[in-house]
Parts: sequence; structure tokens; C-alpha cells
Amino acid sequence: MKLHEFQAKDLFASYGIPVQSGVVVEEAEHIGGLALSYPVVLKAQVLVGGRGKAGGVKLASTRDDALAHARAILGMSIKGERVTRLLVAEAADIQQEYYLAFIVDRAARALTGIASAAGGIDIEEVARTAPENIARLPVDPALGFQPFHARGLGRAIGLSGAQLTDFVRIASALYRLCVAEDAELAEINPLAVTPAGWLAVDAKLILDDNAAFRHPGRPHNEELTALERDARESGLSYVELDGDIAIIGNGAGLVMSTLDIVAHFGGRPANFLDVGGGATQGNMQEAIGIVLRKPGVRTLFVNIFGGITRCDDIARGIVAAPAAVPMVVRLTGTNEDEGRAILEAAGIHAFLDPADAATRVVEITR
Ligand code: GDP
Ligand code: MN
Repeated sequence: MKLHEFQAKDLFASYGIPVQSGVVVEEAEHIGGLALSYPVVLKAQVLVGGRGKAGGVKLASTRDDALAHARAILGMSIKGERVTRLLVAEAADIQQEYYLAFIVDRAARALTGIASAAGGIDIEEVARTAPENIARLPVDPALGFQPFHARGLGRAIGLSGAQLTDFVRIASALYRLCVAEDAELAEINPLAVTPAGWLAVDAKLILDDNAAFRHPGRPHNEELTALERDARESGLSYVELDGDIAIIGNGAGLVMSTLDIVAHFGGRPANFLDVGGGATQGNMQEAIGIVLRKPGVRTLFVNIFGGITRCDDIARGIVAAPAAVPMVVRLTGTNEDEGRAILEAAGIHAFLDPADAATRVVEITR
């Protein structure tokens, strides 16, 4: 489960990690009544990153500024997430931005500390352009993250003296938090140096859902997009990704392998929907409607292996819900001949081999 920044910062504070104290508002007008000294920073509380670039983080030097920014940010949509809450805090006077995180690294089978003096910007960008600026330290779970480990990580990003001492305190606290709270990721970007000392200006925290039973009373965040919620209400399992090829399949295994085969041939799935076993014509029509509603979808790939699901039902659904984008169908299994005949009559060719179909859909998407 992802936590909102304000929730993560509350947890950070309880482990002694310095954060700006802030207030969450849902209406711009409430800012007027807050006892804040300006400048302030206004931050959209949505469960996606890159809010700054998207216009969801603004500094305001007066109350009027703050009101204007708050009105603009509340109600805007960031990567498909509607902003309904705003974190308002006294702005930090940032002198330097560092990066600090712990992540469960499955390859290393350990929580791994990651630090960089190139904070503030996207760490994936740093990893690509200047990997030498990132220090990594897998933590032996039996030994834990000892002060000498923290000092090593701090020195590796150029810290010394009092700054190093403060960094060691913050990194050790973040590690303690990860272990005690069962975090998969705890990220501070930027971890800022200010005239008043170090400050976690941003906070990202992903908690391990499998350990939720150990932490009763935690907030429950809804991480579904609006479309995912609609699909769930219709009893369909639908997940959004960020490519441009919509995918419908039947059965979790087939759908996963469809994603893989599309990626293998160089395509990028926009989303996927599993119509499940025994899908009817109606389910299929509904499925097409949902996957095509996502903005940015350019093609549709339907991959069906008929078992309990009958190919003729699927074909009727496809014909009844004509896609507004080019479509590629792979159809085989129960009642395949009837299914193909229905599609052919509507001028739709159905592939047999999933690789041929995937190649085709990637081609037409380009
Ligand atoms: P993100 O874009 O979703 O990662 O949101 P952040 O909380 O990291 O904010 C984006 C950027 O806004 C940061 O990298 C900072 O440069 C800037 N920023 C955020 N809070 C403050 C603040 O209190 N003072 C100043 N000067 N800049 C801030
Ligand atoms: Mn950030």
C-alpha cells in the first residue's frame, strides 16, 4: 500500500526524521485561517510521483498567492489522479538536495540503502545518466544497518563532519522505520539541507500488504484509478499501465503472457482486462468499452483461448462492440470455427498464433 506524503511524514516524524509541520486542507479557503508564516509550499496529495513537474507543488509568498495556487491545484488531475487534498507547510529554504531511500531489493534479498548527492530529481534519471553518483548498500538482515554502515553510505556521497553525523541519524531512523513498519520502499527525495538543518522535504512510503495484519489501525488508501474502480464494480479485473495497446484476454495466465509477448515484440500495453472463464457476449462488449476508455489507447489486442469460454460468444461480443481503434484478434479453442466465421463475416481476421498476432498489433500501433 502506498501512503500519501502527509501520512508518510507523520510516520517519519514518529521515528525522529525531521519534517516540516504541515496541514492538510480540502478547500482552498481554509488556508486563510491557518497560522503559517510565509512563504509556504502547497503540495497535491496524490499517490503518484513527479507532482512538481506536473504543477502539483507550488511555493507561495503571500496568502493571496497561496489561495490562487490552491484553487488551481485542488481539482487538477495528475497522471489521472484527481487532487482532493493539499498539504500546506512553511517552505523550507533549501540549500542542497540529497536522495536517501531503503528498498527491498529482491536480487540482493535484502533491504538496500540508496543515497545520492544528486537529489531532487528523478533517481531513475540519475541512474541512467550518472550511475556513479548513486551509492548502494545491501543490508545484511542479521547484522542490521549499523552506524558504520550509515557512515560509509554518507561518505560515499561526499558527506563529512556534522553533516555526516546528522545523515547517520536520519538514515538509521529510516532503516528502523522500514523494519518496524514492514516497508517495501521508504524514499526521501529530496532530503534537503537547510539553514535550520536537514529536512525530509518529500516522503514516499510503500508498505508491504502481506504484513498488514501486524499493523492494525493503519489508514486504508484506495490506489485504484477511476476506470479500475468502474471495472471492479462490474466484476471485471482491470489494471492500468502506461503504454498504448489495450489488451483483453481470458484467464490470468494468458493475460500475463499476452503482456509479455507484446513487450517482447516491442509494444507497450496501455492496460489489461481479464474477462475470465465463461465470458459471455455481454462481458466481452463491456470489456471492450472499458479498455478503450483509457486516454492514449491506439490499438486493441484480444487474445482468447476458448475453454469454458466459447469463441462464438467472444466473436459476437467483438462484433457487437465495434472498436474505435484498429484491432487484432487471436482466437482459438472451444467453438473456434463458429467464432472465426462470425468475425470473418464482419471483416475481422482472427490469428491462431499469439506471436503472429502480437507482431501484427505492435506493427499497426507503430
Ligand atoms: P514530487 O515532484 O512529487 O517528487 O514532489 P516533491 O515534494 O519532491 O517536490 C518537488 C520539488 O519542489 C522538490 O524537489 C523541491 O525542489 C521543491 N520543493 C518542495 N518543497 C519545497 C520547499 O519547502 N521549499 C522549496 N524551496 N522547494 C520545495
Ligand atoms: Mn520528490
